[in-house]
Amino acid sequence: MRRSYLLGLIALFLVGVFFAWSYLFPSSDIAKKPLAPDRFDLAGGPEKKERGFPQREIIDLASEYPKVFFRQGPPKVKKVALTFDDGPDNNYTVKILDVLKKHKVPATFFVIGKRCELYPSVVQRMVKEGHILGSHTWSHPNIIKLSDRKVIEELNAAERIIKRQAGYVPVLFRSPYGSLDRKKVELISNRGYKIIAWNVDSLDWKGLSPAEVKANILENVREGSIILQHSAGGIGEDLSGTVKALDDIIRVLKKDGYQFVTIDKLLGFPYKK
Ligand SMILES: [Zn+2]
Repeated sequence: MRRSYLLGLIALFLVGVFFAWSYLFPSSDIAKKPLAPDRFDLAGGPEKKERGFPQREIIDLASEYPKVFFRQGPPKVKKVALTFDDGPDNNYTVKILDVLKKHKVPATFFVIGKRCELYPSVVQRMVKEGHILGSHTWSHPNIIKLSDRKVIEELNAAERIIKRQAGYVPVLFRSPYGSLDRKKVELISNRGYKIIAWNVDSLDWKGLSPAEVKANILENVREGSIILQHSAGGIGEDLSGTVKALDDIIRVLKKDGYQFVTIDKLLGFPYKK
C-alpha cells in the first residue's frame, strides 16, 4: 500500500516537472521542422499574389511611430540605402553580392531565417563583405494574420539563426509583404526592433525587366531614400531583372553624387542589440 502511494507521488512529481519544464522552455517549434530546399516557399504565399499593402498605411505608421518605424532617412543628405529582402539563396543573392562587391557598395539584407539555415555560407559572405542583416522573420508569414505568440516565435527563431551565423542579434526588422498594423508595430518595437519600410519600391517582385526595375528606382529616388529590392523569391519567382539592373542603378546614382550606406548609418542607430 505504502509502496504504491510512494510510486504515485513520484509519478505525480515527474508529471509536474515535465509541465514546468515545457512551460519554462517551450520547444521551439517552427525552427525544428525539416527543411527541403527545393520545396521551400514563403509561408504567407508568393510576393506576387500577397503584396498589396498600401503605401498610404506605411506613411501613416511612419508618422504615428516616428521613433520606431521608418520609411526614409534625412531628406537633405545625399545618401541612400539599398535593401534586399527574402534572401539568402544561392542564385540571385550571390549575383547581387558580386555586383555590390564590384562597386564596393554596402547594403542591408532582410533575411528569412529558414533560408539562412539553408545557405549559411551566403550569410557569412554578406557579413564578411560589409553588409548588415535585419530580420525578415523565420518563415515569411503574413504578420497581421498571426497571433502575438506566433509573431514572437517567428522573431525569436530568426534572431537565433542570425546570431549563430552573423554573430549578432539584429535591431532592424522588415515585415513580410510590408504588412503591419498598429498592434503589431507595438508588439515588435517593444521587443527592441526598429521597423524599416521604404519609400522607393523597385516592384521587382513582379518579375519586371531590368529597364523597368531601373526606371522604378531612378525616377523615384531622392536624398535619404530607402530602396526596396529582393535578393530571392518564392518558387518560380524571377528576379533576374533586379540583378541585371543593379549595376546600372549604382553607376547612375554614384554619378549623381549619392553615397550608399547601410540602414543604421542612414538612420543613425545601431544595427545590433
Ligand atoms: Zn519578403
